[in-house]
Amino acid sequence: MSAVLDLARPELRKLRPYTPGAYEPGLIRLNANESPWRLPGDKTERGLNLYPPPRPAALRDALAAHYGTPASELLVTRGSSEAIDVLIRGFCRAGRDEILICPPTFDMYRLYAGIQDAEALAVPLVKQRDFAMDADRVLAAVTERTKIVFVCSPNNPTGGSVPRRDVEALCAALEGRALVVVDEAYHEFAGGHFLDLRARYEHVVLLRTLSKYVALAGARCGAVLAAAEVVDFLERVLPPYTFPTPSIELVSEALSPDSLRVAAERVALIKRERARLAEALGVTPDVLRVYPSDANFVLVETRDAARFMETARKAGILVRTFAAEPALAGCVRITVGRPQDNDRLLQAIAGARA
Ligand code: PMP
Repeated sequence: MSAVLDLARPELRKLRPYTPGAYEPGLIRLNANESPWRLPGDKTERGLNLYPPPRPAALRDALAAHYGTPASELLVTRGSSEAIDVLIRGFCRAGRDEILICPPTFDMYRLYAGIQDAEALAVPLVKQRDFAMDADRVLAAVTERTKIVFVCSPNNPTGGSVPRRDVEALCAALEGRALVVVDEAYHEFAGGHFLDLRARYEHVVLLRTLSKYVALAGARCGAVLAAAEVVDFLERVLPPYTFPTPSIELVSEALSPDSLRVAAERVALIKRERARLAEALGVTPDVLRVYPSDANFVLVETRDAARFMETARKAGILVRTFAAEPALAGCVRITVGRPQDNDRLLQAIAGARA
C-alpha cells in the first residue's frame, strides 16, 4: 500500500465500508425504505423522496473537469469545511496526533482538531512582514505526531498568499512525514494555484470551494483534490448520502459555461473593487495599515476596531473583528462588496472623522 497512507489512522484503513443499496434508474426501488411518492412541489429531477446517490459521481466528474484534475483524484464535500473535518478525522488519532497551523488563519482547522482531540501546533505568521509564513519555523516545529500541515493561501483573514518557494520547500521537506494541505478557498481571486505540486506529490492535498468564486456558499459544495489513494481512503471516513439532491442539481447547473462566465466577470470586478477599497482605506486617518490581499476581502489595522465597526454598523454594514486573536487587535476584515456597498462604507468611515 502507498506510503502516504502510512500517515493515516491504521484502524480506519481496516474498517469495512458501508455497502449502499443499488440504484438503477427505471427499476422500482423496494430496497431502501424510501417513500414511493414525491411531495407536491418537489421540483428536483431525481425526487426528494429518494436518497441522493451515495456519492455524487456526475458532480464529481463536472468538478474534476472544472478544476482540471482526474475524477479519481477528487472528493466532493459539503463545503471545504467538511473536507477539513474529514482529513483531520482520517489522519489524526484522538489524544495522540497533531496538526500544524499558522495563525492568524481560518479558525476551523483549530476547531475540527479540537473536536477530534488532536492538538493544533501553532507557528504564528510574522506580523511585521505582512503576516508572512515562516517556512523554516514551520519545518522546525513538525514532530513525529504532526500528521497535517495546513497552508492557507491566500490566507483568511490576513489576505496574503504564501510564496511558491515556501510551499515548494514545505512539500519537498515533508514528503513521507506529513500531509501538506493547501487551502485554496480564495485562489481564484489571486490568480495562482498549486495544482502542479498536487500532481507531483502524493502527500499534497488541495482544498477548493464553490462558496466564494462561484457564489454558492448556500449550496455547501467543496472539494478535496488529492492522490487517488488518499481520495479512496477519505471515502471510508465520509459517510455515504451526505451530499443532498438539491445541491447536486443546483451545483451541476451552476457549472455551465454561462454561469462560470458570469462568475469570472464578477471576480474581475471584485479585484478592481479590492484595489479601490485598499487605496481609499489607505488614506483614511483611522486606518493605520492596509494588508496586501489576494482574496475577496481586505484586512486593515485601525486606531480603534470597535469604533470602526460601530461606524460601519450605523451605515448598515457589518464588518468582522477578531476578539479572540491578540495578533489581530485593532484589525478589521472587510469583505469586498458591490461598488455601492463599498462606497457606502468609505463614506461612513470618512464621515465619522469630519
Ligand atoms: N477555507 C477558508 C480559508 C475559508 O475562509 C473558508 C470559509 N470562510 C473555508 C475554507 C470554508 O468554506 P466552505 O466550507 O464554505 O467551503
